[in-house]
Amino acid sequence: MGTPTTADIVIIGGGVMGASAAYHLARRGMKNIVLLEKEELFGTGATGRCAGGVRYQFSTEINVRLSLESLPMLERFKEEIGQDVNYRQCGYLLVATNEKDVNAFKHNVQLQNRLGVQTQLLSGEEVRARLPLMNFEDAIAGTFNRKDGLVDPNSVVAGYISAAQKLGVNALTRAEVTGIRVRGDQVEAVETIQGVIQTRMLLNAAGPWAGLIGQMAGVQIPVIPIRRQMFTTNALKEIPEDFPFVIDFGQSLYFHREGEGLLIGMSNQNEKPGFDQNVDEEFEFVNLEAAIERMPLLEHASRASHWAGLYEVTPDAHPIYGATQVGGFYLCTGFSGHGFMHGPISGKLMSELILDGEFSSLDVSMLDLARFDEGRLIKEYNVV
Ligand SMILES: Cc1cc2nc3c(=O)[nH]c(=O)nc-3n(C[C@H](O)[C@H](O)[C@H](O)COP(=O)(O)OP(=O)(O)OC[C@H]3O[C@@H](n4cnc5c(N)ncnc54)[C@H](O)[C@@H]3O)c2cc1C
Repeated sequence: MGTPTTADIVIIGGGVMGASAAYHLARRGMKNIVLLEKEELFGTGATGRCAGGVRYQFSTEINVRLSLESLPMLERFKEEIGQDVNYRQCGYLLVATNEKDVNAFKHNVQLQNRLGVQTQLLSGEEVRARLPLMNFEDAIAGTFNRKDGLVDPNSVVAGYISAAQKLGVNALTRAEVTGIRVRGDQVEAVETIQGVIQTRMLLNAAGPWAGLIGQMAGVQIPVIPIRRQMFTTNALKEIPEDFPFVIDFGQSLYFHREGEGLLIGMSNQNEKPGFDQNVDEEFEFVNLEAAIERMPLLEHASRASHWAGLYEVTPDAHPIYGATQVGGFYLCTGFSGHGFMHGPISGKLMSELILDGEFSSLDVSMLDLARFDEGRLIKEYNVV
């Protein structure tokens, strides 16, 4: 299929959000769906650079509920979409080393248990017993959920794109959107490097670039790109197969098994907003030193690969779903560094809103764009 001149809906962005929305809209029977991705391949934005972590452990009810809907969709992915996504339930072990975090952890475990998520609160002693290869003398408490784990992001995008294509979606790469035509208060067309597509409906699923797409339509979207980076090690025979996804919460430092080695990342709290996706070597050194401090055996490890990507951060670290003041211009963005895992349900929710006018799987109407102007922010504490 070449570049079309008309569409019933144009989805901007071929990451997990765009791919999931395209599939779910097509599955509901919508025709003439066009998905546009600026890069040569789908899923090379935030989605393809992410750590692949999926978890139930959040601090707000809406995020736990998003996980309760989305993670089972990842468990059923092969059955439903026909693509293996390598779901490994290794559990997330979050470690607190200060009293403020301990109090937050206690609150989170209560909330999660109330919602049916079986997260356990651990003592410092129990953390140390579970992590014999790590130095956690200062651990005061931890939380563990065995159903949290890892999923392969590229497989999820590839699975949704090919299932969507089979249902007739026209998904194009090297199709950068360069402008949006709005007449009155209504979307009229989208301009791309491959030509103009007439459409009255647009879904902005451009991840860290969503703010730029918003500007094209005259809509201000508070999504800020912030660089995050990680590296992997060569094989480390000491790391057991069931090594959990460990988060040293106070330092935003994390470790999980990747192949036969480890993937290690740390969030630079001083990172300035921007679109640079090159690795900051100086900060990588800071990360490495902190990691060796926690896991001395890393002294003898070597780096296998490293990369950086962009978080798509909103003022309250929650996504933005829904309509805008411009007719036909919808948003599904702003997942603030933990959106990969919520991709499946988010695409489904957008299909419900677009086709039925309301969300039915889960009420996310409080996560609208208007909340920022109206002061209805919902703060998420478990941002890594
Ligand atoms: C280092 C890192 C680690 C992370 N770890 C995790 C994790 O462990 N678990 C988790 O759940 N989440 C994690 N995340 C967050 C997760 O990656 C994102 O929340 C999620 O992938 C967002 O998906 P998206 O589809 O909105 O964005 P993207 O995947 O970025 O997709 C947007 C797409 O839009 C395209 N695009 C942009 N502008 C245009 C244009 N003008 N025209 C056409 N196309 C355009 C881009 O090229 C891109 O492919 C991590 C993110 C990073 C950066």
